Amino acid sequence: MSFLSAINERFGNISFSNEEIKRYGRHLIMPEFTLAGQQKLKAARVLTIGTGGLGSPLLAYLTAAGVGKIGLVDYDTVDYSNLHRQIIHKSRNVGKPKIASAIETMKEINPFVQVEAFETSFRSDNAMEIAKDYDIVVDGTDNFPTRYLVNDLCVLTGKPNVYGSIFRFEGQATVFWGEKGPCYRCLFPEPPEPGTVPSCAEGGVLGVLPGIIGVIQAIETVKLITGIGEPLIGRLLTYDSLKMKFRELKLRKDPNCPVCGKHPTITSYIDYEGFCTI
Ligand SMILES: [Zn+2]
Repeated sequence: MSFLSAINERFGNISFSNEEIKRYGRHLIMPEFTLAGQQKLKAARVLTIGTGGLGSPLLAYLTAAGVGKIGLVDYDTVDYSNLHRQIIHKSRNVGKPKIASAIETMKEINPFVQVEAFETSFRSDNAMEIAKDYDIVVDGTDNFPTRYLVNDLCVLTGKPNVYGSIFRFEGQATVFWGEKGPCYRCLFPEPPEPGTVPSCAEGGVLGVLPGIIGVIQAIETVKLITGIGEPLIGRLLTYDSLKMKFRELKLRKDPNCPVCGKHPTITSYIDYEGFCTI
């Protein structure tokens, strides 16, 4: 069953308290949204991998918007060097687990959202179990091992994968969904050699940049759940903050893709070693 039909089966039974009706009032009055749109959001289960730069705006907005259940995967602790971009974490939480820190902020934003914490790395041996109850996966980690693992998991289980990536002053976002368009491996069948890409420490990133890309991921997630608008499937949105330019590239499904193609060679999950995973 695709995730959309699962949400469509669940949302009819969703009800709201008076406080929730007031809280979501600016959604409810939009004819594209109405009560049904808000019910779909509350019926939805979104798994977010990472509570860092992309995860911060993503989690804040998905929580505020009223997504019913949000799963968080992270094993890191809050560090001073995170704070210039990871705005879900407060200075007082330096040294504490990122998951606990993120949940603290999320509960302050919207106590009606149900949160499930997975304080672990996301690996081939736990990915299936963690993701099994979720309709949609949003990758907020931006590293190669997770990117390929999320992609393969989503293709093999039919879930959409809301993708974002940042580097220095530039970012990208798209929606990979093997059932309806290309997946990440259609573009890049295999990861590069670990030594050929800059490490996290070498890369650097403008603190504000993940805000833009994470918010685009949040919007695409809300659109997928509610079925409004045109999702970013088969389109890669690129953003250059220095030139302040957005561009759009068409992405095509590769019939020979090793995971979503006609004769897939990848049928189980892989842990790629040797990359920076933070
Ligand atoms: Zn593919």
